[in-house]
Amino acid sequence: MTGTMADLAATTGIEVPTGLLIGGQWTKGRDGGLIGVTDPATEETIAEVADATAEDTLDAVSAASAALPGWAATAPRERAECLRRAWSLMIAKSDALARLMVLENGKALPDARSEVTYAAEFFRWYAEEAVRVEGSVLTAPSGANRILVTRQPVGVSVLITPWNFPAAMATRKIGPALAAGCTVVLKPAKETPLTALAVAEILQQAGVPDGVVNVVTTSSASRFSEAVLADPRVRKLSFTGSTEVGRILLKAAATNVINCSMELGGNAPFLIFEDADISAALDGAFLAKMRNGGEACTAANRFYVHEAVADEFTAAFAARLEALKVGPGLDEGTELGPLVNEDTRSKVASLVDEATSAGSRVVTGGSVPDRRGYFYAPTVLDNVPPGAGILGEEIFGPVAPIVRFSSESDAVSWANNTEYGLVSYVYTRDLRRSLRVAEALEAGMIGINRGVVSDPAAPFGGVKQSGIGREGGHDGLLEFTETKYIAVDW
Ligand code: NAP
Repeated sequence: MTGTMADLAATTGIEVPTGLLIGGQWTKGRDGGLIGVTDPATEETIAEVADATAEDTLDAVSAASAALPGWAATAPRERAECLRRAWSLMIAKSDALARLMVLENGKALPDARSEVTYAAEFFRWYAEEAVRVEGSVLTAPSGANRILVTRQPVGVSVLITPWNFPAAMATRKIGPALAAGCTVVLKPAKETPLTALAVAEILQQAGVPDGVVNVVTTSSASRFSEAVLADPRVRKLSFTGSTEVGRILLKAAATNVINCSMELGGNAPFLIFEDADISAALDGAFLAKMRNGGEACTAANRFYVHEAVADEFTAAFAARLEALKVGPGLDEGTELGPLVNEDTRSKVASLVDEATSAGSRVVTGGSVPDRRGYFYAPTVLDNVPPGAGILGEEIFGPVAPIVRFSSESDAVSWANNTEYGLVSYVYTRDLRRSLRVAEALEAGMIGINRGVVSDPAAPFGGVKQSGIGREGGHDGLLEFTETKYIAVDW
């Protein structure tokens, strides 16, 4: 390891546990194996965390299972208070958490800061929702009995999260699970375990009882999923990650018919019509593309711009991206950090190379900077042919391909020409057009004259191969409950 844990604590201002959290105890795991955590800006190892065996994983399931009856029976107000304290602690530690996230993920500090606030908000929102798990009662049409509908916690929940939002993807699952009365086993991505471990410690400090939240870090995701999905005590899988891995997990979860929520990949189209407010569209496009350095499932992946405004938009957008200060996320003024690892960067580079070979014009960027770290230059590609490969895959980097269109029907049909359906963005001043297009777009979420849709109070999720179920809002809570119907004759 290049740095020590003391170095990490000095840079971030927080001491992070590096063990597995099982039944309220931090442990090194049965065989003491370790996984290195790399700073993408320096390519150096900054920490080591425990590498769980399959037995450790099952120990975590046992702890979650043992804690379940007590937690499910805890008064909703008490569960709410734990989440509320966790929100407050996260806000108090937000600067340190943001710094920690920069070091393991690479994102720029302003992005990390806004993620911590967003992530903490899931605890506050679900503190408020914990006391609002409603049911219903009605008289059967025959008049013979009453139909009583209640909601119960689904049970032991396995949560698997990606590296791109290491705090928010964890809290977006832990918040509703705990509010509903479930206990959890969280497996963070191997690139970014430290933020998840820090969040878990905050939940302990907030008074969440032992065994309610367990965290397992592992170098082998499949070893983990094979163990948990074969265990009949596990009743829920909530996964955020790629569609490819989602498919594998859905198949594996079928054996025990485990309740699944899937937040998968996206390929968001961003439509700019000829009547759009171009300055607002530039702001929205910038946020939709560059939030989190382009490493977001909601990132605008394809820009469809009407030919009447395409020159103006392209030149101004390229100028904005070119002006970005690129560097290590903690450096003063950095606006764009490195990508998370070499694989991600080489995928971005090869998509750009392929698009340029297919006839796209590089307006700015299009290259790997000559420096240490997994950086890629902010890039705008113009005149991308509608069938180019870059339009069919998640770029997950700071690259904006622009396609020109002349008719609304082409724009909508090109936008829908993907197996994904997470989010779409539309810029127009025409209310009728905005709603007509919003209805026609195949996506779980639509931003109209807005480049960000994420909100803890809103149901986040996709259609088609972007997922199953919703996170956030009241819907996010219901994902961790089972409906129980009681026929009563009183
Ligand atoms: P990923 O490769 O699918 O990994 C996501 C998580 O799944 C990680 O914890 C990973 O563990 C784990 N995993 C990988 N293979 C597994 C297996 N066989 N069994 C069990 N777990 C497995 O995705 P990523 O590269 O981390 O994240 C980027 C993807 O997430 C993008 O596609 C993005 O669109 C999507 N995403 C979606 C949303 C949404 O809300 N819809 C939000 C954020 C991100 P390891 O780290 O150990 O490999």
